[in-house]
Amino acid sequence: MAHFSLPFAGLSHLLHQVKLPAMPFGGVSPQELGLLLKSITSKRPPKHLPPTNGDFYAILDTLTDEQRTLQRMLRTYMEQRVRPVINGYWERGEFPYELLPSFAVLVKETFGTRPYSINGLGPMLTGIAAMEMARVDASMYTFFGVHWGLAMGSIALFGSAEQQRRWLPAMERFEQLGTWSLTEPTVGSGAAAGLLTTARHDSHGWVINGEKKWCGNAPMADLNVVFARDVATNQVKAFVVERGMPGYHIEKIEVKTALRVVQNANLHFDQVRVPEANRLPGVNAFRDVARQLALARALVAWAMTGTAMGAYEQTLEYANQRMQFGRPISGFQLVQSGLVHMLGNVTAMQALCLRMSQLAERDGALSHERASLAKAFCGERMRETVAIGRGLLGGNGILLEHHVARYFADAEALYSYEGTHEMNTLIVGRAITGMSAFL
Ligand SMILES: Cc1cc2nc3c(=O)[nH]c(=O)nc-3n(C[C@H](O)[C@H](O)[C@H](O)COP(=O)(O)OP(=O)(O)OC[C@H]3O[C@@H](n4cnc5c(N)ncnc54)[C@H](O)[C@@H]3O)c2cc1C
Repeated sequence: MAHFSLPFAGLSHLLHQVKLPAMPFGGVSPQELGLLLKSITSKRPPKHLPPTNGDFYAILDTLTDEQRTLQRMLRTYMEQRVRPVINGYWERGEFPYELLPSFAVLVKETFGTRPYSINGLGPMLTGIAAMEMARVDASMYTFFGVHWGLAMGSIALFGSAEQQRRWLPAMERFEQLGTWSLTEPTVGSGAAAGLLTTARHDSHGWVINGEKKWCGNAPMADLNVVFARDVATNQVKAFVVERGMPGYHIEKIEVKTALRVVQNANLHFDQVRVPEANRLPGVNAFRDVARQLALARALVAWAMTGTAMGAYEQTLEYANQRMQFGRPISGFQLVQSGLVHMLGNVTAMQALCLRMSQLAERDGALSHERASLAKAFCGERMRETVAIGRGLLGGNGILLEHHVARYFADAEALYSYEGTHEMNTLIVGRAITGMSAFL
């Protein structure tokens, strides 16, 4: 059976025009119909809706004026440049190269170059930046997180001063893009227990053999930070493999259902020769990688917060304009319950991430366990939040045009990368009980 809905004004007008029989609507008199119409029209949305605000506990008020300006620049860029075009790129599974020049300017203007952009902001503002990016698009955050946080981050953390001078300037201008390769086809969560990709030292340098999986940005990257097991010591080492080195093969992963804008690849290393000058001297064991993983997890927790925040704001805006039974669906109790649940999740995530970053700033170092708790907790809350939002949009919740479908899909990748929910849970479990439950 078809259902029709008419705007009230139109319906009232129609009723006055048409000469109705005494009991035209299945026993409902015109008087009763008039009362019904009156009661419906009295539930019209208020003239001035409260502003949509995913920062209910005003965490942004903790920023200084200067920091607030940077946060606003990020938000404006993401809303004005990214949001209008991103769904098309997501649908086509393409990266928006058109945005790279302006994105590079944005990063320079916000993160600065002191001495490199990677050192520009403290944990708190870096986290807020991740939240602002993911609030509009988790793929753009992920592109940035892999290039800037992981690839540039490795060179900044583990590289010599000479290596930093060699690679970081072009990378921070986004003229050279980076990827980061830890995961392998058969070694995912168990990376700490041993990588299969090997590095063998000889009189000319290093020879790398093996395979990597999932590497973000790899199809477009010039530089790849690759982790491999030194066959002589069985310890993990890191190398910068450059595009074009013989034996380095890149195979793009097609048809993903999440983060479709991010270009991921499987990689093959077939006797790839890497000079000693490309080995990052700061990586000598897996515990060094773990230090970087903790930093990355903290950022992902902020990005999850942004994803949930974006989903909440888009859902509220949709619910305020979507009419059913003659009123905005945001006026229904059950819809409000869903919206409040979403906002509660977002607020809890923001408060947790904020405190995590404040502690990292206070202590001068990030606690691995706190980063893992944030990743695990925010992952669950994000997943629940985007699912509620998707449901509140009804059928439109699976259409890209309303954005929430994209948040819903992308959340699944954030939930699993940078250490799965289970791995991060086990890290915290080990910290609070003193017992490792990994094996
Ligand atoms: C979109 C995307 C982008 C990525 N980008 C990169 C990248 O740029 N570079 C990179 O190196 N990697 C990247 N990854 C890889 C990512 O880090 C891994 O997917 C992740 O670490 C999990 O590994 P896995 O997929 O092999 O899952 P598996 O390790 O096979 O795990 C499967 C399931 O088993 C569970 N499990 C495993 N061991 C245990 C245990 N001991 N106890 C309880 N449960 C356990 C896991 O939690 C998970 O639920 C990316 C992944 C995705 C999806």
